[in-house]
Amino acid sequence: MTNTTSNEIKQLDSDYIAQTYGRFNLALSHGKGCQVWDFEGNEYLDFTSGIGVNSLGWADEDWLNAVVHQASSLAHTSNLFFTEPSSRLAKKLAEASGLKRVFFANSGAEANEGAIKTARKYSHDKYGKDRATVLTLVNSFHGRTISTLSATGQEVFHQHFFPFTKGFDHTPANELRALETRLGQKDVCAIILEVVQGEGGVCSLDHEYLQGVQALCHQYDALLIIDEVQTGVGRTGTMFAYQQFGLTPDIITLAKGLGGGLPIGAFVLGEKVQDTLGKSDHGSTFGANPVSCAGANAVLTKIDDTFLAEVKRKGEKLQKALAALPKVKSVSGLGLMIGVEFEEGTKAADVVVKCIEKGVLFLTAKTKLRLLPPLIINDEQIEKGIAVLKEVLEA
Ligand SMILES: *Cc1c(COP(=O)(O)O)cnc(C)c1O
Repeated sequence: MTNTTSNEIKQLDSDYIAQTYGRFNLALSHGKGCQVWDFEGNEYLDFTSGIGVNSLGWADEDWLNAVVHQASSLAHTSNLFFTEPSSRLAKKLAEASGLKRVFFANSGAEANEGAIKTARKYSHDKYGKDRATVLTLVNSFHGRTISTLSATGQEVFHQHFFPFTKGFDHTPANELRALETRLGQKDVCAIILEVVQGEGGVCSLDHEYLQGVQALCHQYDALLIIDEVQTGVGRTGTMFAYQQFGLTPDIITLAKGLGGGLPIGAFVLGEKVQDTLGKSDHGSTFGANPVSCAGANAVLTKIDDTFLAEVKRKGEKLQKALAALPKVKSVSGLGLMIGVEFEEGTKAADVVVKCIEKGVLFLTAKTKLRLLPPLIINDEQIEKGIAVLKEVLEA
């Protein structure tokens, strides 16, 4: 134990950290499984998993062993050498997705950047210039770099930082006719979408719409890129969320839950684009970092059919319990990625603050309450979270 206090940490943050985050009034010290403690020893139950990152909770033993072993043998080397963890991880991702090749990056935004570069090069190689537009959906979220901000289909992100990267356009979700009209302009090389829009408020897209998007992508030879940064790696009850919608994407992008708590991003390339990027077309110093990849290998080893069936079951149990709570207007989402819309007069942000005071951590997404618990959460913990939420909503 150290003598650190929460107040000391908060003061340092306020003095020295760029103030870009509206943090909750809570400094975290250490965690185990779904439980986490502050510096004064107060315990909290976690329904956030670091925004869908700590898929196995904190300090999973197999994950920890893999990471410690890798850190003590080969923590980093450049991509000029072959390494074992990234090679093994790439095989796992290709087999799990049915796609062909993987590029490793460090974050979701970078994974999307790489997918965008691949789409533009695919189109340029095949059709030449002026076919570089990347379509995304209204209400989407694809990252915070200057280009992925352009990709993000929410006006609030298109302020202050002009000029934004050109070559992006947005089309309304679940409106196939609008997409067809837009593709008819013949300047589109790809469409990027989340099958469940996370930051946009945990909104699942319609099955029929997604099928229609895929058919139109084939018709116009536009690449179908699925952003699985939040939905991927077991979060929705299948390895990847698109697998529940009968889709065969050309590229998927991954990050959040992949490393089990370590920074890693990836884009996985299907047959059509597996050789689009050649030598020196793309790179990343920290990409394919052996420690991050070792953590990701440990995560993927755990996520088998039995594990996924449990995610599904627990997700359904949570959704049902949430729908029965007072002041709840609707529940959305898939697996353990859940949004709760409250009746008028109940603000999700206030609910989250009150729940923290009672020892349970939740998130928000736009005006909704959002739940992204560690995938290993157990029934008792689910029941406790629901009980605290009920208490807060009834007060
Ligand atoms: C979080 C998120 C991103 C951005 O990931 P970073 O690792 O923060 O760059 C991109 N797409 C989706 C769908 C996300 O949820």
